[in-house]
Amino acid sequence: MTPQTPYYLLDKSVLLRNLEKISYLRQASGVKCVLALKAFATWSVFDLMREHMDGTTSSSLNEVRLGREKFGGETHAYSVAWADHEIDEALALSDKIIFNSVSQFERYAQKAEALGKPVGLRLNPGISHSHFILADPARPFSRLGEWDMERIKPVLDRLSGVMFHFNCENDEYDSLDALLTQIEERYADILHKMEWVSLGGGIRFTNDDYPIDRLAQRLKAMSERYGVQLYLEPGEASVTKSTTLEVTVLDTVFNGKHVAIVDSSTEAHMLDLLIYSEHASVAPNTGPYTYIVCGKTCLAGDIFGEFQFETELKAGDRISFLDAAGYTMVKKNWFNGVQMPSIAVRHLDGQVELVREFTFEDYAQSLS
Ligand SMILES: *Cc1c(COP(=O)(O)O)cnc(C)c1O
Repeated sequence: MTPQTPYYLLDKSVLLRNLEKISYLRQASGVKCVLALKAFATWSVFDLMREHMDGTTSSSLNEVRLGREKFGGETHAYSVAWADHEIDEALALSDKIIFNSVSQFERYAQKAEALGKPVGLRLNPGISHSHFILADPARPFSRLGEWDMERIKPVLDRLSGVMFHFNCENDEYDSLDALLTQIEERYADILHKMEWVSLGGGIRFTNDDYPIDRLAQRLKAMSERYGVQLYLEPGEASVTKSTTLEVTVLDTVFNGKHVAIVDSSTEAHMLDLLIYSEHASVAPNTGPYTYIVCGKTCLAGDIFGEFQFETELKAGDRISFLDAAGYTMVKKNWFNGVQMPSIAVRHLDGQVELVREFTFEDYAQSLS
């Protein structure tokens, strides 16, 4: 039976292709890979993911707990800022804690040390690869990681590792290579002192044309040079192309252009399209009929994009938006009270299982 739209449909066989690349990279380079839960936290498929990844990393206490309870393996606790009432639980649930600033380190490191938990610090190298200033960790006045060497030096002896997150959607190996070289030159003394170094996320190494062997050799050489365990924190790259958002056309109108309205919304279900001014994708996107496909919220700019279709669209037709895994399900919301998409999983044997449905009660209980 096909579920009622809207729903995210996660195809485990595509997910597995990404995961096998992750395993290949781990084996070829010795790097450990922890899933960045902020990109993807659909725990129904963690059984498959944990066979190919070493654990999780987080951006909040809730993510630390989800990683510990639902994924297992190594649980890295990172947050841009911990609160006093969170730190004890974050430490209890994690294997490592990574502070974002020297001041957070000074406030909480003793607690971690008392429990014998390895402590890391996020460093901001001031360089990055990002197509969007909004998502650029090295943007001017960035709060993401410590910049100041004079503040870093006095705490170095108490750190077991450092984290750099300096890529966003980086699919160019040469750019990564050049950035790594700059980081190595600038931080060589620090790297030699550490047991582990995390290079963060944002590297699109599961893309079909990515030179994964060159990356593996680069990382292997780097970890040998400094005697460190390297980590990557892939979010998007772990799940890329694994999921579609399945929607139904509810109405079509003509206002100078043909418009199709579907039972979903960019703002509520694929928010990054709005944030980054991007269009969804559909396949094959060919044919003589052009439609602007829009969401059903009252936001005027709730637009998935303009696409080609082989036939005229009418109410009841189905559309499938591609590449809807990363930064979608973790961001979905109840704007306009639009029905929140269910989550369905296509298992490796082809069977589709509906793993989560949302109801009016979920909507009502998200408010009070
Ligand atoms: C966002 C983020 C990630 C994951 O980024 P992707 O682009 O999804 O791979 C990893 N580490 C940190 C510190 C992040 O902020």
